[in-house]
Amino acid sequence: MDQKFGIKTRKEDNFTEWFLNVVKYSELIDYHNIRGCYIMRPASMYIWNLIKESFDNKIKELGVDECYFPMLVSKSHLEKEKEHLESFDPELAWITKCGNSELQNPVAIRPTSETIIYPFFAKWLKTHRDLPLKINQWCNVLRWEVKSTLPFIRGREFLWQEGHTAHYTKKSAEEEVREILETYRKIYEDLLAVPVIAGVKSKEETFGGAEYTLSVEAFIPGTGKGVQGATAHNLGQNFSKMFDIKVSDDVASETFSYVYQNCWGISTRSIGVLTMLHSDNKGFVSPPRVAHTQLMIIPCGITKSKTEDEKKNLYEYIEKVKVSLNGFRVKTDLRDNVTPGNKFNNCELKGIPLRIDVGFKDLKNNEVCLVRRDTCKKIQINFNNIKDVVTNEINNIHNDLFNKAKSDLESRLVYLEDFDKMLDVLNKKNIIKAPWCNETKCEISIKERTTIREGDLIITQGAKTLCIPFDQSPNLIENSSSDKICKCIGCDRKAKCYVIFGRSY
Ligand code: AMP
Repeated sequence: MDQKFGIKTRKEDNFTEWFLNVVKYSELIDYHNIRGCYIMRPASMYIWNLIKESFDNKIKELGVDECYFPMLVSKSHLEKEKEHLESFDPELAWITKCGNSELQNPVAIRPTSETIIYPFFAKWLKTHRDLPLKINQWCNVLRWEVKSTLPFIRGREFLWQEGHTAHYTKKSAEEEVREILETYRKIYEDLLAVPVIAGVKSKEETFGGAEYTLSVEAFIPGTGKGVQGATAHNLGQNFSKMFDIKVSDDVASETFSYVYQNCWGISTRSIGVLTMLHSDNKGFVSPPRVAHTQLMIIPCGITKSKTEDEKKNLYEYIEKVKVSLNGFRVKTDLRDNVTPGNKFNNCELKGIPLRIDVGFKDLKNNEVCLVRRDTCKKIQINFNNIKDVVTNEINNIHNDLFNKAKSDLESRLVYLEDFDKMLDVLNKKNIIKAPWCNETKCEISIKERTTIREGDLIITQGAKTLCIPFDQSPNLIENSSSDKICKCIGCDRKAKCYVIFGRSY
């Protein structure tokens, strides 16, 4: 390990320590003096803005408009949906004082904005012709996490988007929630090169007050843990009944219907997921489509023996290379007080997908040397082909990162029917697909039975359900005449579905 450049711990030796090194030394974040709050530096803000742009374009096509609501929520509004309040209660931060005076009516800082937004839905929506109403806001939220915090993955304050929509029919809401989930899948897979499993959350893991929750789940092979990537909640009419959001069906008949609602969100956690998945012991590996700098051009072989003219020619050639790559995010590192070796290390640490080394021999041959960050592979190319080769390599890097992560996920998603093997399989850093009864009691019991304790201390957390995947293969549950296959992995009940169990972030 190169001590100078900060990554002091290997991914395979201490994953968390390694991750903290990567996010700090690759300059994605810095630490605030309040736990769970992080400074997002330009490198990570750039990625977030590309995620934002990509998602925004898609939801605008779906007719979603942007809004902004205040970050404070009153107690009376919070208390309207009891189940919702209960699920966020432990993480709520309250403002109770202003200067030296206690506030008569303390206000909370949004952990999510249903209770801030929905009173306005009730006010704005009059007839079924006002539907669907689709709004989204990009903002920060505050959840006073008591579990261990981790940059991007579990912050107290984090950035996200929250979409809130109201529909006249159940069908329209159900179609939208699936479409949004598919958009999240594409963000993860096509932009961030992170394969995900899409499915439905168990009752225990469903958003407070929702009818059901859909999610995309990613897998981190380094720890064998799952991580919830984004969620889309179908709220049914639960919130509309509590907040009295109803529309007239028809002016003549004077009948009213409660609206059907969805809400959905993806957060800066996504940056943590891609970092954990792709980065290595040399530092950050940025998926190329979101890299702040996609290519860094570095002059090589400038020794004292080179004349001013020779150097000038090399720099002019470098400029020509840069201009030819118009359309990519390209930088040159022309610092003359830093050795090429140190510049290479810097590119590796920062995760720049492609490096272009240009020396005097390359200049003479009208060539450049392209170096991939992910594989370190060098490709000598002719200047005339540079744009095509770079275009190809950017796609190749994306595909290779995705395919590697996908094959890791597939090989570590173990099919299991026997509870006795569960702990062993989990300890080998796998997640599990198993037949399941879909009962909360059973889920809690499995979590308890897979938790490793020493006295009162939890050494390793137990497995919970990540999701009931849409992909229900091997599809044996309903068809099989075999009792064994139909039995739940955790109890004696009949299995109703396949579920993914795993330790998780
Ligand atoms: P939720 O409203 O709880 O469904 O959250 C929406 C999304 O935000 C989740 O799918 C997570 O990916 C993400 N998220 C939840 N809690 C945190 C947190 N403490 N830090 C960062 N992201 C979070």
